[in-house]
Amino acid sequence: MILTVTLNPSVDISYPLDSLAINQVNRCTLTRKTAGGKGLNVTRVIHQMAVQVKATGLLGGALGTFIEEQLDTQQIDHHFAKIKGETRNCIAILHDGDQQTEILETGPTVSKTELARFEKVLIDDSKEASVVTLSGSLPNGAPPSYYVNLLKKLKDTSAKVILDTSGDNLKTVLEAAFKPYAIKPNLEELEELTNTKIQHDDSKLKDLLREPLFAGIPLIVVSLGKEGAFVKFKEHFYRVKIPKITVINPVGSGDSAVAGLAIALEKAADIEETLKTAMTLGMLNTMESQTGFVNKNNFETYFNQIILLKN
Ligand code: ADP
Repeated sequence: MILTVTLNPSVDISYPLDSLAINQVNRCTLTRKTAGGKGLNVTRVIHQMAVQVKATGLLGGALGTFIEEQLDTQQIDHHFAKIKGETRNCIAILHDGDQQTEILETGPTVSKTELARFEKVLIDDSKEASVVTLSGSLPNGAPPSYYVNLLKKLKDTSAKVILDTSGDNLKTVLEAAFKPYAIKPNLEELEELTNTKIQHDDSKLKDLLREPLFAGIPLIVVSLGKEGAFVKFKEHFYRVKIPKITVINPVGSGDSAVAGLAIALEKAADIEETLKTAMTLGMLNTMESQTGFVNKNNFETYFNQIILLKN
């Protein structure tokens, strides 16, 4: 079983409008509300691939209940720790052709007691898991080093941990003693983290990933959008090449790639199958209008077009 962690989930609302009129009333007829947050995207994709998954994290208030009900409707297993604050809304207004204006609530502030309650849920549920994914930003109230704390608590389980976060939340993990099995920064996140301009240069990527900051993490997948990925696995480097495809909505591709890594690690696939599964699910997500959705029927077609080159 794969356990996914979403600490700052949201109800994502999309308002498609022909045009956005500032300082006026805008009426919307096609509102869509989905359980959101990076970890819940990962969850949905794993479920769509018919692999057993359970979602955990922190939920509160009426919007927390909405997320649980949506997961129930989709027959996705979940066990969230409850908080007093209200789970947030994230609003995307899609307007004037391809423009997108977003309003992202920061979300509730969680207390130390609530975090401790969640940690108990995590420890209990991770006992049945072979892979745990930790995705996204941290809620207000959790320190930037909170993922280090979770990795420390997970070190005695046999589960492989995939961490997909950025900025200070990732930096504190790289500088700490408890390492995840895998991380999946995209190129911009890696550049921001290391304060370097890499610009798709393989030799620069190789040198960077050899730095002590990245030591102790067996699998590092640097996702490169339409260029596929550059990967360090143990002492080996790979360039993963993907075919050209028609993209409809790339939001959530990184989360779908994480879902692919989790699915492959859960079945102890070799590195070639692992990377191809991750890239295929990233690509399939870009071909759908909804975030964190893939069409399982197209899996083999794209999987077979991916090329793994030893670098
Ligand atoms: P993130 O969403 O975290 O920024 P990426 O944009 O690198 O991550 O996307 C993750 C994966 O999704 C890529 O490695 C690739 O497999 C697929 N993908 C993303 N964008 C495209 C695209 N424009 N064309 C083809 N595949 C894409």
